Parts: sequence; structure tokens; C-alpha cells
Amino acid sequence: MKQPRALVIGSGPGGLTAAAALHRRGWSVTVLEKAASIEPVGAAISLAANAQRALDAIGVGDAVRDLAAWEGSGGLRTPEGRWLSRTDAAALAERFGGGIALVHRADLAALLTARLPAGAIRTEAAAEVEDPGGPGEPARVAVPDGVLEAELVVAADGIGSAARSALFPGHPGPAYAGFTTWRLVLPARPVAFAPHETWGRGELWGSQPLADGRVYAYAAALAPAGRRSPDGELAELRRRFAGWHDPVPAILAAAEPGQVLHHDVRWLAEPLPAFHRGRVALLGDAAHAMTPNLGQGGNQAVEDGVVLAHHAAADPAAVPEALERYTRDRLPRTRTVALRSARAGRVINLTGPLAVRARNALIRGVGLLGPRVVLRGLDGIADWEPPGGGADPGGPYASPAQAAP
Ligand SMILES: Cc1cc2nc3c(=O)[nH]c(=O)nc-3n(C[C@H](O)[C@H](O)[C@H](O)COP(=O)(O)OP(=O)(O)OC[C@H]3O[C@@H](n4cnc5c(N)ncnc54)[C@H](O)[C@@H]3O)c2cc1C
Repeated sequence: MKQPRALVIGSGPGGLTAAAALHRRGWSVTVLEKAASIEPVGAAISLAANAQRALDAIGVGDAVRDLAAWEGSGGLRTPEGRWLSRTDAAALAERFGGGIALVHRADLAALLTARLPAGAIRTEAAAEVEDPGGPGEPARVAVPDGVLEAELVVAADGIGSAARSALFPGHPGPAYAGFTTWRLVLPARPVAFAPHETWGRGELWGSQPLADGRVYAYAAALAPAGRRSPDGELAELRRRFAGWHDPVPAILAAAEPGQVLHHDVRWLAEPLPAFHRGRVALLGDAAHAMTPNLGQGGNQAVEDGVVLAHHAAADPAAVPEALERYTRDRLPRTRTVALRSARAGRVINLTGPLAVRARNALIRGVGLLGPRVVLRGLDGIADWEPPGGGADPGGPYASPAQAAP
């Protein structure tokens, strides 16, 4: 049978995972990225055991873990520095089969890109779904120099997905979640510290060492949509967080304005009716953008990529049917995770002094019951297994070379 063709729109974690998984299954894959290079925006990304198992299924998990820092041995603090609860790496691994790995996004992108053949990624290739295709009809995608056809199109074009608007024009699109975020990576640790996330009143700060000595820090705060600081976002961060416990002031003192990324958080509050139309599958933030409170948006995108390749490989001649199965698998799961994440955001963003005191007392109380109880928040999420379980041996088209990790 002719080698089936897939076009992947977008080279974020979702698009690159889908591309690597489809290539491994024997598909001819072209990734279309509108940016001039594969340089992911967004600093670092935490990958829980669910995403690591998805990456294991395509032979990338060990390489990711080799580059990772582990988030297990930190905890949750108050702005004054009091520990509310401590996480425990061993308990995490025991409960979910793995800890939380923190990697730089560029490293994840490089590992996934290395699984693709030379020439599979086209940059400066803004793509638009022209026709989603259907049984017996290929899908058509417009790119700057023409129109491409394929048996499968993976629309992994992020939260502002043009493919989503084209396929579901009646959908209202992303809604503002009520808070804004900042992220930065420092080239070196200004002081020694244990990883932590710190919850204040409608504000949050996290500091995480990366494995190579760099520091990933992130912050969030309730704010009106579109607000920009007149003297720059680093000045805004210093105003809000310089009085918080160590190492926050040291990180803020060492940071430079150009290192700070700032994004308002939007999510798909209204779910899509399906994650596909014809031969086009929506994936990652394009399909189910969620708030970052559980650190699962990218994890779910990675899961999507592996599950999509699994269904598409079953019978590449029957892509529309495979995409029905993909929607059935992924829509309920990602909706549950998105709603849990939004709920966590509401707790984190409490502002009333009494409510914050009650929240903190509850967390401290639960923490006293032991790490197993604290970790229940990730039950049903981090324990996910890819379809078929374990390493994906490659599909019916895979040559031995393609099937090797
Ligand atoms: C503050 C913050 C912290 C976060 N932390 C985590 C975390 O720790 N763990 C986690 O799992 N998730 C986290 N997330 C969520 C995570 O960033 C996203 O869920 C993830 O990046 C989604 O991946 P994606 O591949 O779907 O889309 P994206 O990463 O958005 O990639 C989309 C790609 O498509 C390209 N593109 C767009 N339109 C076109 C077009 N027309 N043609 C061609 N290319 C196009 C874009 O240039 C981009 O490269 C966080 C989010 C925020 C805001």
C-alpha cells in the first residue's frame, strides 16, 4: 500500500509528538510551522508520569528523563516562607510510576525533532485548512507556496488555532481565565534553594532549578485582561513579589527585562463538540486549551499525539473512522483535566483573608496526613497509560529502522 501522508500544523509539544509518533508508525510526515525557527516560547515545561509514559511509547522518554530536573522534593509555601506541605519524590514515583520531570522546552523540541527525517519540518510555512476532506477525499492545506494534500492533517496550531475556527466556526473560542502569567529562565542559580510554589492572595510564584544549573521561575496574578505594565513586566514582578521569601527576591534581582515572558491565561471554557472534522484532527491547545494550574496542558497535548497515531495506524485507509475513535478517547479525558485545572485555579486565586487562611489551614492539615493524601490531586491524571501500554512497537508500515527508538 502507498505510504500514507500526514501534515502536522504547528511544532509545539503536541505537533512534534504527533509527528514523531506518526513517523514511527510509518507515515510520511511534514510539519508546517509558521515561525522562522523551531524555538519554542515558554521557558520550561513539567512532564508528569502520564506524559512521560506517552513519550516512552515513542521511544523518547528516557532521553527526556536524562535531561530533567525532578520536582519531587519541594513543596508549597506562603509568601512569608512557611511550608504548607512538602512533596515527596518517592511517594510520587510509587503512586504514579514516576516523578514530575522539568525540562527546557527547547530540549524537548530538539529530542522530538531528532526523531524526524531530515526535511520533515518546514518553517515559515503558515498553514490553513482549505478542505478537511472525507472518505475517499484527501484533506487540503494551503501553505505560502501552494496547496498540499494528505490523508491526515493534525492541527496542533495552539490556543489561537485558525484550524479550530475553520472547522467549528460557531465555537466562541478561548475565554480569559481572569489571571495573567510571567515566566523566565535565569542562566544560573543566584542562591541555593529547594523547588517551591508559593501561594499568596490572588498571586502565585514558583521557582524550580533546571538540571543544567539554570533556574525556571513563574508567577501568576489576578489582573484585567490585556493589562500591560507601563515600566515593563520585570518592574511589575518586582513590585508584586520582591517582598516574598527567599529565593524570590534573589531571582528578581538577577533577572533581566528581556528574560520575562508575559501571557494572559485563556482557555476553552466551552468544549468543542468533537476534536476532528473529516480528515483533520485538532490536538493540544487547539483542541482543549486549559489553565496552567495543574501543569497539564502540554502533557495532554503529548498524550493526544500518541493516541492519535495509535488510532491512525490501525487502518490508514480509514482515517475518518480513526478520528472518531480519537475524539471518543480524548475529548472526555481532556475535558475532565481542564475542569480540574480551572477548579485548582479558583482555589489558588482566592483573595479574601479568611478564605486564604482556611485554604492554607486545610492544606497544612492534609499535608499532616502524609504525602499519599496530598498526591490524590493527580489521581486519574498522572496514572494514565497509553493505549496498548508500554513501548509502541511501530505500526504496519514501520520498517525495523523506524521502529527502533
Ligand atoms: C504560564 C504557563 C505555564 C505552563 N506550564 C506548563 C507545564 O509545566 N506543563 C504543561 O504540560 N503545560 C504547561 N503549560 C501549557 C502548555 O504551554 C501548552 O498546553 C502547550 O504548549 C500546548 O502545546 P501545543 O503543541 O498544543 O501548542 P503550542 O505550544 O502553542 O504550539 C503551537 C505551534 O503552532 C504554530 N502555529 C500556529 N498557527 C500556525 C499556522 N497557521 N501554521 C503553522 N504553524 C502555526 C505556533 O507558531 C506554535 O509553534 C503552561 C502554560 C502557561 C501559560
